[in-house]
Amino acid sequence: MVLVVEDERNIRDLVCLHLAVEGFTCETAATGTDALARAGERTFSLVILDLMLPELDGVSVCRAIRRGGVNRETPILMLTARREEADKVVGLDSGADDYLTKPFGVRELMARVRALLRRRPSAPAVPASDPPIAHGDIELDPARRRVRVAGDDVTLTAHEFRLLHVLLSEPGIVFTREALLKRTWQEDTFVTVRSVDTLIKRLRRKIERDPSEPRVILTVWGSGYKAADV
Ligand code: CA
Repeated sequence: MVLVVEDERNIRDLVCLHLAVEGFTCETAATGTDALARAGERTFSLVILDLMLPELDGVSVCRAIRRGGVNRETPILMLTARREEADKVVGLDSGADDYLTKPFGVRELMARVRALLRRRPSAPAVPASDPPIAHGDIELDPARRRVRVAGDDVTLTAHEFRLLHVLLSEPGIVFTREALLKRTWQEDTFVTVRSVDTLIKRLRRKIERDPSEPRVILTVWGSGYKAADV
């Protein structure tokens, strides 16, 4: 079941038609608020989300979906009018997994859809028996699957939790994007290193005091990322 959010009827119908040919069922929404209402009702396998929408734009919808609820981890494919717009959307880290610029070909649309669905990630779980980690004012507790920053609970997705655990387990050790990719997504080959950057950004927004000047997860230029030494 795919949620298609698009206010232009022609595009909406076209997308649904081709998804139907491939055996998917579509639910549709024409406004941002309608999209959020539907996303709150049931879990979708994929959300195709137009950027420019009446009432609430695609980025706001995307962020709201990622904040919590049953579709928190559902892949989101953003539709945008221009490439610069798309780069901004993904760069700004709205939570979208991929984008497609209009006008797009049906073949490209379906290739992206299939790739996102195959990605369907189940993060390798951090064993509950692993000892809790304290790093500065961050506490990570595998048994309770809980992260606290300065005493406050922070809600992380399975991948964010896993990635944070990898980094905090070995502070000061530099991990390449490829290494983090492997450890966070295991054998899932449909995820690219860009997914690591996106995940790092999301994580920083949740755990760093000032995400623009990270103190916990540091970028090592030309190499990758590391957790700061404690
Ligand atoms: Ca639109």
